[in-house]
Amino acid sequence: MLIKKMEVGNLMSNCYIVGCQDTSEAVVIDPGAEPDTILAVLEENNLKVKYIINTHGHVDHVGANEPVKKATNADILIHKEDAPLFSNSQENLSMYVGGELLLSPPERLLEEGDTITFGNITLKVIHTPGHTRGGISLHGDQVVFTGDTLFAGSIGRTDLPGGDYQQIISSIKEKILPLGDDIKVYPGHGPVSTVAREKKTNPFLQ
Ligand SMILES: [Zn+2]
Ligand SMILES: [Zn+2]
Repeated sequence: MLIKKMEVGNLMSNCYIVGCQDTSEAVVIDPGAEPDTILAVLEENNLKVKYIINTHGHVDHVGANEPVKKATNADILIHKEDAPLFSNSQENLSMYVGGELLLSPPERLLEEGDTITFGNITLKVIHTPGHTRGGISLHGDQVVFTGDTLFAGSIGRTDLPGGDYQQIISSIKEKILPLGDDIKVYPGHGPVSTVAREKKTNPFLQ
């Protein structure tokens, strides 16, 4: 499994390309901005994108959905409870960061327990609300992509529409930490971590 991490846009969100080296099929997780950078990395690695997956509907994670879709013809996937953010510039926060973003509906709505398969790789959808109602984490072999739910040493904001502090803490404690100490955590912003390190040192989880 190939994982490429790119920090994109003014809000410095992490966009990930996850590729199957046997088949060259890939997904793009959270194309928030800078579509040309994302497309260049795909080309460099000879990858064919099957899906664009959004961990949630905020503009810094969905901002480049359309140009990446246009160039790759990939389907867009987001949890059913965050899909309405595509057409709500207040809740997707785009109207606060200079420029209304209104997206077409996604091709597929995700729910807890769904699986997303490309090449020999399967990612499992874990519904982790608290930052937004329809926030998800994606669990693969020894890795979890946590969006704005869990960061290295911190957690996502809960003061935005759909946010809920108790809920984000339960999402992390009940659904992410039990995945196992050795699991690598790939968050929506900032550096990579592990479940063990977050369990031990994240001040919000003590
Ligand atoms: Zn967010
Ligand atoms: Zn974010």
